[in-house]
Amino acid sequence: MTDRLKVLRTVPPLRRALELCQKPGERVALVPTMGALHRGHMALVREARRRAKRVVVSVFVNPNQFAPHEDFASYPRSFVTDLKVLREAEVDLVWAPSVEAMYPDGFATRLTPEGAAKAGLEDEFRPHFFGGVTTVVAKLFTQVSPDFALFGQKDYQQLRVVTQMAKDLDLPVKVIGVPTVREPDGLALSSRNVYLSAAERAVAPMLYRVLKGCAGRIKNGEKVDRVLNVGRIEIDVAGFRLDYLEARHALTLAPIGAPKDGPIRLLVAARLGKTRLIDNVAV
Ligand code: AMP
Repeated sequence: MTDRLKVLRTVPPLRRALELCQKPGERVALVPTMGALHRGHMALVREARRRAKRVVVSVFVNPNQFAPHEDFASYPRSFVTDLKVLREAEVDLVWAPSVEAMYPDGFATRLTPEGAAKAGLEDEFRPHFFGGVTTVVAKLFTQVSPDFALFGQKDYQQLRVVTQMAKDLDLPVKVIGVPTVREPDGLALSSRNVYLSAAERAVAPMLYRVLKGCAGRIKNGEKVDRVLNVGRIEIDVAGFRLDYLEARHALTLAPIGAPKDGPIRLLVAARLGKTRLIDNVAV
C-alpha cells in the first residue's frame, strides 16, 4: 500500500485529508514525534494501529520546548528515512508542519502546566520544557482531533503532564502510555543516543541497571532513601553527572517514602559527556 501515505504541511489540507480518509465511526490515533524515528516510536505506531483505523504521525521538532542553550539546531533530523519507515508501517497521514505553520507571526499563547509539571524532576533542569510541550501537544490535539494519542513511558513525566493537560482542558482524547523499548543491553532507545561516543555507549546501559537494582531492593523491603543513595553513588562512579534519581508516586509524581504509600516510579536523568539521558521504571 505504498501510495497511501499523505504528507501534510499546513492546517487546511490536513483537515481536508482527515475528512477524506475518515469514514463515519472510524477512530483516529495520533502519534506525536520529533522525527529521527526508531523502534520506540514504531511501538507507539503499532499500538495506534491496534486501537484505531486511521493513524496520524506528527513529525515536528518543536522549538518552543528547547532552551536557547539546548540542541534544537543540532537535534537529529532524518525526514526521508522517517517517511519510508512510516509508509512501511501503513500510517495514513504524516503531519509535518513548518515552524511558521505551527507558530505563525504574532503567535502569543503558551500554556503554563502545574502539578506533575512542577514535580522537581525534568522541570528543575529544563524549566522551558513542559510549557513548550503542552502548548504544542494541545495544538496537535486540536489540529488532528484524535480519539487516541500515544506517548512513550520513556518520557514518564511528560506522559503524566500531557494526560493531565488533556483532562484539564476537556480535550476529548484518550492519552495512552506505551512501555519503553530498549536495546538488548537495556539502554532505552532515544533519538539522542546518536550523540553518544563508543565509550559512552558502553557505559550508558548502567543507568537502567541501577534503576532495576534499586526497584528490586525496594521491592525486597529495603528503605527507599537508602536504596536511592546507593543508586546515586553507583551512577556517579560509572562516570555520569547525575541530575536526579528519585522515587515518586507513579500518578502524581509527588515524593513518596515507602511502597505502602502508593505505586512507586523511579526516575533518573544523568549526563554522559554532552548527552543527557533519562529513564524510569516501575517498582
Ligand atoms: P520524541 O520524538 O523523542 O519526542 O518522542 C516521541 C514519542 O516517542 C514520545 O511519546 C516518547 O516518549 C516516545 N518514545 C521515545 N523513545 C521511546 C522508547 N524508547 N520507547 C517507547 N517510546 C518512546
